[in-house]
Amino acid sequence: MIIDIPENSDFSIHNIPFGIFSTKDRSPRAGVAIGEHILDLAAVAELDVFDFNTAVFEKEALNDFISLGKDITKKVRKNIQHWLQDDNSVLANNPELFVKQSEAQMHMPVYVGDYTDFYSSIEHATNVGTMFRDPNNALLPNWKHIPVGYHGRASSIIVSGEAIHRPKGQTKPNDSDTPVFGPSQRLDFELEMGFITGRNTHLSESVSTAEAEDYIFGLVLFNDWSARDIQKWEYVPLGPFLAKNFASSISPWIVTLEALEPFRVEGPEQTPEVLPYLQYEGEKNYDINLEVGITPEGSKETTVCHSNFKYMYWNMAQQLAHHTVNGCNINVGDMMASGTISGKSEDSYGSMLELAWMGTKPLKMKDGTERKFINDGDTVTMRGYAEKDGQRVGFGEVSTKVLPAK
Ligand code: CA
Repeated sequence: MIIDIPENSDFSIHNIPFGIFSTKDRSPRAGVAIGEHILDLAAVAELDVFDFNTAVFEKEALNDFISLGKDITKKVRKNIQHWLQDDNSVLANNPELFVKQSEAQMHMPVYVGDYTDFYSSIEHATNVGTMFRDPNNALLPNWKHIPVGYHGRASSIIVSGEAIHRPKGQTKPNDSDTPVFGPSQRLDFELEMGFITGRNTHLSESVSTAEAEDYIFGLVLFNDWSARDIQKWEYVPLGPFLAKNFASSISPWIVTLEALEPFRVEGPEQTPEVLPYLQYEGEKNYDINLEVGITPEGSKETTVCHSNFKYMYWNMAQQLAHHTVNGCNINVGDMMASGTISGKSEDSYGSMLELAWMGTKPLKMKDGTERKFINDGDTVTMRGYAEKDGQRVGFGEVSTKVLPAK
């Protein structure tokens, strides 16, 4: 190995995720995370080792690289894996090709043209339905037939490390008939994963569940910030709007579908049987451990949730097939988020709304304070990794600090 990779690194030789970084003397460009370093792809390209137009590595987003197609992006990943393990490769004795992650700034990895948020965890949908509607009838009649989703705001998706301000808006206190205006009192995270599309379709074309994986480039961790008090008042009758569109945060490294291949698992059984266009063959869920921590200002982090991407009722292939079944087009760089990923146990719920059960069961922090929702000064950090037979493929983290309302 021509670079040290710490044991248990998310960015092992089996991973090779793509991102956009810059340093004091390097403009934003494409890179690959390896151990605690970044391999500068724009610099590697200068060695004349790639047989395509490597200007794609000097762009401020990976869209053009991804657009080259999986034949090329898969080969780049394979070549890098090979070169890193060969002491005589083109990457050897070239320390200027590597940058320490601690000395780099990460940027949004792709330009996101369109963003869709699904609602595909049956545990989450059941919990929310129980709290807001009817415990005996928590799921709406369509839920097991349709991967429910809505179109979100692409331009407010931000990368890990960028702080957000507490949103303001209209809320209606329980003891009042009229709304009030002010900072949200119930700011929440949603633990999700997002996949990024890697191919375009034209209007009126559809992507089948069998084809779907050819259209998925890779995944990131996704925190879908939510203002529960604003949401509760505004979402009837149409759905999410200002409670959701002020920010969503993502991890900076896109882990490719190829890197996740060893971690495929079967999804939950779907009954009743879904319509033919949503049926699929093979293992379409992925065993990815997820966790969320809250770090109060100047204090230690408390882990508040352990969940797993494998719990998803609807898988990504079904989501993409459903999204396009009416002829809706997709473009390279579209972001499709899973919806909050909750498991069955109370410590696996993917939002404060569920973890603290609408504020009735506050969570204890290590510093002795309690949380029903997220306070000003708190930093919310999500992490994710897959591990099997000594191979670890991780996502790093998405970490976001909440500042007071502006
Ligand atoms: Ca969401």
